[in-house]
Amino acid sequence: MSDCLFCSIVAGDIPADKVAETDEVLVFRDIDPKAPSHLLAIPKEHYVNVAELSEADADLAGRLLATLTSVSEISGNTEGYRVVFNTGQLGGQTVDHVHAHLLAGRQMTWPPG
Ligand code: 5GP
Ligand code: ZN
Repeated sequence: MSDCLFCSIVAGDIPADKVAETDEVLVFRDIDPKAPSHLLAIPKEHYVNVAELSEADADLAGRLLATLTSVSEISGNTEGYRVVFNTGQLGGQTVDHVHAHLLAGRQMTWPPG
């Protein structure tokens, strides 16, 4: 999608600090980190949210999960981490290209607010 920020990152039109990449998934650093390690994992193909992705291609959704938890910065974090898919306006989603937040490096609180 031409007017999608994360599609522009996938296309290389907007720079990003990439930490992992496959032919179908990209993991990069959040520009405004909410934890010492704050990564975003996205499918390169455009889907609006995790519901649309998992409905359209459950295998890709599974591979996205597998990729994000295999990122060394996260998988090496034996003390724990948090995976978040903000979904829709009330869910706090501001970029309408499905992305998993991977947060690590500090104590997470619950409920998240
Ligand atoms: P959401 O609010 O949709 O769950 O998450 C969107 C995330 O994208 C936010 O955490 C925000 O900091 C991040 N973000 C917004 N613009 C950019 C950008 O241009 N580059 C990167 N790397 N992250 C961005
Ligand atoms: Zn997109």
